[in-house]
Amino acid sequence: MKIAVLKETLAGERRVALMPESASKLISSRNEVLVESGAGFFANADDAAYEEVGAVISVKIDEILGEAEVLIAINRPTDKILNKLRKGSIVVSLLRPLDEPTGIKSLTNNGLTAFSLEMIPRSTRAQTMDVLSSMATIAGYRAVLLAASKLPKLFPLLTTAAGTIPPAKVLVIGAGVAGLQAIATARRLGAVVEGFDIRSAAGEAVRSLGAKFIEVENLDAEGEGGYAKEVGEEVLEHSRTLLQTHAANSDCIITTAQVPGRPSPLLITKAAVEEMKRGSVIVDLAGQNGGNCELTKFDETVEHKGVSIYSPSNMASDASIHSSQLFSRNVTAFLSLLLQDGKLNLDFTDEILSGSCIVHNGEIRNEKVKNASED
Ligand code: NAD
Repeated sequence: MKIAVLKETLAGERRVALMPESASKLISSRNEVLVESGAGFFANADDAAYEEVGAVISVKIDEILGEAEVLIAINRPTDKILNKLRKGSIVVSLLRPLDEPTGIKSLTNNGLTAFSLEMIPRSTRAQTMDVLSSMATIAGYRAVLLAASKLPKLFPLLTTAAGTIPPAKVLVIGAGVAGLQAIATARRLGAVVEGFDIRSAAGEAVRSLGAKFIEVENLDAEGEGGYAKEVGEEVLEHSRTLLQTHAANSDCIITTAQVPGRPSPLLITKAAVEEMKRGSVIVDLAGQNGGNCELTKFDETVEHKGVSIYSPSNMASDASIHSSQLFSRNVTAFLSLLLQDGKLNLDFTDEILSGSCIVHNGEIRNEKVKNASED
C-alpha cells in the first residue's frame, strides 16, 4: 500500500505523523511511504532521514495525494487535501468526530474510509496504538512545567541559609492520563499535590503517586470504557463548592477533566479564582471543549485579580520530537493491524478496526458519530 504523510497545516503544529524509524517498519512490511518535503522539520526528521530508510520525498502535494492509498495525519486534514484524495482512499488521523462532527463531511463527500484514532478502544490489546494517552502524557507533563515557570514561587521545599521555603501546593483536577502525569511531574519537582476526580478508581492511582485524593463521597461516575460519565448539575455544584476551598489553598491548579464528546465540566468558578492568592497559576488543559475554569479563554492567557489562567491549544506539539515519536509508533502499530503484508485488512470483526472506523466508503458507520453529525 502507498502511505502518504504531509506537513501538518494546523497553525502552530510542529509534529509529524510518521518518523523515519516508523517509515522504515512500514516499508519493511511491503508498503511504500511518500513524504512531503519538510514534513518532519520541527521533529528533527529531515528529508534525508526519510530517504535513507527508503521513503520517497516530494514537494508536489497533488502528486502525493493522487497516488496515496492511505493518508496518515495528526490533525484532521483540510477539506482541500481530502478533496484531492482518490475515491476509496483511507484516512487515519485524530478526526475529532464527536467534538466537531461537521468536520467529517468531506470524508463522506469523497467516498473515503476514515479511522479516527481517538475512537480506538482503550483496551489492553490496543495500548500500543493509544495516541490519546501518548499525547495526554506529554500535555500533563508540559502543563506542570508551564505552571512552575510562571509561578512566582519555587516548587520544592528548600532549606537555605536565608531560611526555609515551603513547597508549592498544586491541585490537579481530573486524574486520567494527563492528570496523573501532571501529579507525577509536580511531585518530582517537590510540590505538595492534591488530585480530584469523580471516578473513585482514580483515588488509588493518585495516592500511589504520593498525592492526596479529594473525592465526592458516595459517587463513582465511571462509565463505558473507563471514561467518566457526564454528571448532573447537582454533582457539579457539589464538586465546585468542594474545590473552592482547595483552590484557595493552592498555588497552581492543573485542570484536565473531560468527558468524551461533551463540553468540559465547569469546576473552578470565578469566585474560586478570586479566593486564590495573587500570583497563583491555573493551566486549563480542557480549554478546547470549553475549559474547567469559568475564566478560561482557549489559547489565550487571562489575568484575573492577580491569577494567571493559561489554556494552551497544543501542549503536545511543543515537545515535537517526542510527541512525533510516540504518535508515529502508535499509528504504525495501528497500521500493522490495518495493513497486513502490504494489503488492506478491513476486518470489521476486529473491535479495534470496527471501533475506530467512523466512515466506510463515504458512509458514516459509527452510531455516536452519526447522531452527533445529525444534531
Ligand atoms: P479524559 O481525558 O476523558 O478525562 C480526564 C479525566 O477527567 C478522567 O479521569 C475523568 O474521570 C475526569 N473527569 C471527567 N469529568 C469530571 C468531573 N466532572 N470532575 C472531575 N473529574 C472529571 O480521560 P483519559 O485520561 O483519556 O482516561 C480515561 C480513562 O481511560 C481512565 O480511566 C484511564 O485510566 C483509562 N485508560 C485506559 C487505558 C487502557 O486500558 N489501555 C489507556 C488509557 C486510559
